[in-house]
Amino acid sequence: MDSGALWVDGLGRGGSGFRNICMKYRTYLIFGAPGAGKGTQGKILGSIPRFFHCACGDVFRSLDTRTPVGQAFLEYSSRGQLVPDEITVKLWMAVIGDMVGLHKFKPDIDALVLDGIPRNREQAEIMTSLIDVRRVFHLTCPDREALITRLKKRAVKENRFDDANDEVIRKRLTTYENESKPVLEYYGEAKVCHIDATQAPVVVAHQILSEIIANP
Ligand code: ADP
Repeated sequence: MDSGALWVDGLGRGGSGFRNICMKYRTYLIFGAPGAGKGTQGKILGSIPRFFHCACGDVFRSLDTRTPVGQAFLEYSSRGQLVPDEITVKLWMAVIGDMVGLHKFKPDIDALVLDGIPRNREQAEIMTSLIDVRRVFHLTCPDREALITRLKKRAVKENRFDDANDEVIRKRLTTYENESKPVLEYYGEAKVCHIDATQAPVVVAHQILSEIIANP
């Protein structure tokens, strides 16, 4: 299926589907390695009126694991790999379309805050016709051991099976370096804002918000 067909499929469910076929969503990307704090920052931004947060990992985790997509998520994420692009983008479009239909996300007035997607160059290419990326907030943490420590804490607190195993964590970090990082080049340095992810969450949030306010 080509991406145009997916686009209509995903949004056709919403009452305002037609309008959205014609416009790209104004989007901010929260980008970074597993454990860098994308979800934390996405939730903070999403709690502010006129921002709508969507975390791709949360979308996957909300699936019934008996469904084919739920099964695919279990299979790939438990190995530290990305779920195949077509499944991922199709699911994401359907969910966003539903949010538009329910008027939870109002694309004419809300900015979309994405974390966890696009996660490789191919996804970024497929999504080019759907999202108008204003800024990419790259949460940087060169210290891999610090990320691993954060992920292990999250495994206990959030009961995440993919954070519990050392080998899977290391594989996810390698997947990030090899497959996800090229997304930064795809959008180009002018759109990317690098933020030190080892700072306190409130400081990171402040830097993201300052940037958005300075360049709306
Ligand atoms: P983290 O960023 O901490 O690794 P996420 O919750 O974003 O956690 O993702 C968990 C897992 O879900 C990933 O390791 C991957 O298997 C799958 N996943 C999430 N988003 C995508 C995506 N855009 N493309 C492919 N797989 C994804």
